Amino acid sequence: MGDELLYLNGRVMPLAKGRVPVEDRGFQLGDGVYEVVKVMNGRGVWLEDHLDRLHASLGAIGMPQALQGHHLEEVLPSLVEEGKVVSGFLYVQVTRGVHPRDFALPERVEPTVLAYARSMPVDAPDLIEAGAVLHPVEDVRWGRCDIKSIGLLAAVMAKDEAMRAGADEALFVGSDGLVREGGSANVFAVLGGVLRTHPADRHILNGITRQHLIELAVGAGIEVREKAFTLTELLSEDGAEMFLASTLRDVLPVVRVGNRTVSYGQAGAVTLELAQRFRRLQAVAAGLQPPGA
Ligand code: PMP
Repeated sequence: MGDELLYLNGRVMPLAKGRVPVEDRGFQLGDGVYEVVKVMNGRGVWLEDHLDRLHASLGAIGMPQALQGHHLEEVLPSLVEEGKVVSGFLYVQVTRGVHPRDFALPERVEPTVLAYARSMPVDAPDLIEAGAVLHPVEDVRWGRCDIKSIGLLAAVMAKDEAMRAGADEALFVGSDGLVREGGSANVFAVLGGVLRTHPADRHILNGITRQHLIELAVGAGIEVREKAFTLTELLSEDGAEMFLASTLRDVLPVVRVGNRTVSYGQAGAVTLELAQRFRRLQAVAAGLQPPGA
């Protein structure tokens, strides 16, 4: 931990030495976006995909030029290498910068660009085997969940409620009854043999894991429909499968939602098949020998 490195506005320093002024708009207004990239085998997995999404988020908040001159495609791998991070994650955050507090967008302000890499075990085999429990909560988030905003208060509160209810993750359900996504993961179900997930609209974040899984499923001949489902649909089908998908949790089977069992309380066959294919694809992306090869 001692030698964790921080990139902050063009300089690299020990993470503990990083300082951002009080009037940073990220700190005061949540005016910024971020990314989390998994590190395996000393590599940022699907780094280009994450940087593309970061650019998309920045474009959506009117900061398309924010990363000019920062060369994150070189900075991020060097943070991993210099920090000797073999497995863990990279965190990247861009805010609109430091300016006297005002809602109006400031002109000519330098964005605050920061990133650091942290070592962490990236697999949680116990939870993968036991399966996750979800706690449904009303989706009270804003209408632009496609932007990876640092304003995460709704997710913080939902996840806290889930933990206090003894669950592993919150499940955001729209006021229309449709299952949107987890607190910090996308959600898939297998209903009537079809892989279902919410379409990539403004109600969800289009996860990098989600995108790779859809491609994998299509390649495996599994029928995929990006069409939202309700909790009632899920819970009324015996043997329906469900799983979470995210950068730090990969494919995580769901075995219970609230007090109702899903998928007979264990990972379903389609889930296991996709999880295995995903592990192989991810291993290749990380420059590792794919498991079982
Ligand atoms: N939805 C939300 C709300 C998230 O926070 C995350 C995690 N970044 C995801 C989905 C999954 O996205 P990814 O697969 O890119 O990590």
